[in-house]
Amino acid sequence: MFRESEFRPLFCKTYQEFGRSRRASQSYQYTCRMVKTPERILPRKPLHPLEHPRQTSLARTSKPVGRLAPSPTGGLHLGNARTFLLAWLIARRDHGQVVFRMEDLDLTRARDDAARQALEDLKWLGLNWDEGPDVGGPNGPYVQSQRSHIYQAALDRLIDANLVYPCTCTRADVLRAASAPHADDAQPIYPGTCSHRHASEGFALDQLGKSFAWRFRAAGLLVDWTDRVRGPQSHALDRIGGDFIVARSGGVFGYQLAVVVDDAAMNITQVVRGHDLDDSTPRQVLIQEALGLPRPEYWHVGLVLGPEGKRLAKRDQAIKLSELRVSGVFPGQILAMLGRSLGLKWVETDRLPSPMDFLNFEWPEGDVNCADDWTWSSHRLHEV
Ligand SMILES: [Zn+2]
Repeated sequence: MFRESEFRPLFCKTYQEFGRSRRASQSYQYTCRMVKTPERILPRKPLHPLEHPRQTSLARTSKPVGRLAPSPTGGLHLGNARTFLLAWLIARRDHGQVVFRMEDLDLTRARDDAARQALEDLKWLGLNWDEGPDVGGPNGPYVQSQRSHIYQAALDRLIDANLVYPCTCTRADVLRAASAPHADDAQPIYPGTCSHRHASEGFALDQLGKSFAWRFRAAGLLVDWTDRVRGPQSHALDRIGGDFIVARSGGVFGYQLAVVVDDAAMNITQVVRGHDLDDSTPRQVLIQEALGLPRPEYWHVGLVLGPEGKRLAKRDQAIKLSELRVSGVFPGQILAMLGRSLGLKWVETDRLPSPMDFLNFEWPEGDVNCADDWTWSSHRLHEV
């Protein structure tokens, strides 16, 4: 665990400091050429160092804006609850705002009732938000499936800058052609089969009625970033899949593009999520740089593990908030358990806490253990 003062300077940027639009794209391309050596040797310097000469440091003066961004693909479980509680607390402790955003881009799995359930579950737990699908706000809609026109505009800019190219490979093609060693999660590394294509070839393919995906040019790049929980990070894109998809045929936009565009449009300054998503961050940083968008703070927190030591999944009925609620568990019991797992304290320990109670306590980062995974078992709910 490290203290805020050590890393604060790395995040001292206002939105105005970041290069925008064309200028940012040009600088991106320039950096891209610099680091993509023929031997594909990874450069020692990060792709977009924060000490870029045009980006001088200024203290951030605005209040933080955090987000709760569930995917409505099944009821929320205790792991989701713990991450969302942290996201809420980290924003609220500095009197920041909270945005609720429904991430329902995966329409094959997203379900209306699950979306309603996610809102209800988090309200039941006692969390609130200043903007969201149920309360509105200036930067809506807050449901990703209603924001396609915004993602299309961002994709158009990537196409104009030739930072993406049309890829006609099927998944089987990629698996067959991939020769590089796979990352830990056995994610195939895209071998660059279509990377010779200029982005403009997409229009011709479109006219021919060929389906293709837009891939972001990421192979050979290295991204450095600083995690507020885990410290300095460095990711070689070649180890986590290489060029990645930002949109599929049929107007289906990729998670990475949508999240980056939404975080910027909704003025999000803090992204708090499980550390199983830390491979997403270098991809998102690349898209941010390409579009000239600000980089939020990233907090990749520990996961909740089931009694067998496995990460909780949405198919695990027993640990869903809705199931616990039906079985008579109080939200305060869940909050007390999650609060203890994080080392949080509340003033009146003889009663069940609300999320606000954790804010009443002095909460320096060094005292909160949000880095480690935590193993849940049912008896913990009753350890009050
Ligand atoms: Zn391809």
